[in-house]
Amino acid sequence: MRRIIVLLLLTIFGLAGCAPEQQPPRIVYDYETKAPPKTTVLPPTTTKPTVSLPSTGIVPNGWMPSHSERAWSAIIIHHSATDEGNATIIDKWHRENNGWNGVGYDFVIGNGTNSGNGEIEPTYRWRGQVTGAHCGGTPGNWANEEGIGICLVGNFDSSAPTSKQMASLAKLVRFLQQRYRIPKSRVFGHGSVPGGHVTDCPGRRFPMAWLKANISY
Ligand SMILES: [Zn+2]
Repeated sequence: MRRIIVLLLLTIFGLAGCAPEQQPPRIVYDYETKAPPKTTVLPPTTTKPTVSLPSTGIVPNGWMPSHSERAWSAIIIHHSATDEGNATIIDKWHRENNGWNGVGYDFVIGNGTNSGNGEIEPTYRWRGQVTGAHCGGTPGNWANEEGIGICLVGNFDSSAPTSKQMASLAKLVRFLQQRYRIPKSRVFGHGSVPGGHVTDCPGRRFPMAWLKANISY
């Protein structure tokens, strides 16, 4: 009982003693209440949902850039507008016909003519994270700076891509979407790129609706 009285007195005098002193500004308490624990690693400030995908352990080595990665914000789909081809052949065309340093795309997906049906070939632009040369005309050249260019071999004005090409494309796009947090709304056919040149690439028979239904968020 005596101890309780002593504690009460200490409390009363303690409060009385503190009362005249300047109280800390309320904002201090607010901050301390709201501040996260120091050990917490905050997630990226994004509202984009995470995507369930295979771990990067089963992704082919060539899909992982060997240089520090660019801030990719879009994926742009093309066709070669030829019946045949592969990354090496398109590289030659773009050097000799366009005067470019090499193939303008980041990836080429074969149709079974000069590479495997559905085979995905990463190019030097992807490995080195070099600015693309596949979608001209956009303000600030954003589509080549921020857009990952994927070309499917074939002329999709005359025939559709093979099912193996589309399966490979969907898998690659899902991987890229997750790695760079690119939403479905930023997956374009070449001719649909805002501000880009007018073109019917990737062809009238390219199944964009199928692709959009088989990729991530
Ligand atoms: Zn194109």
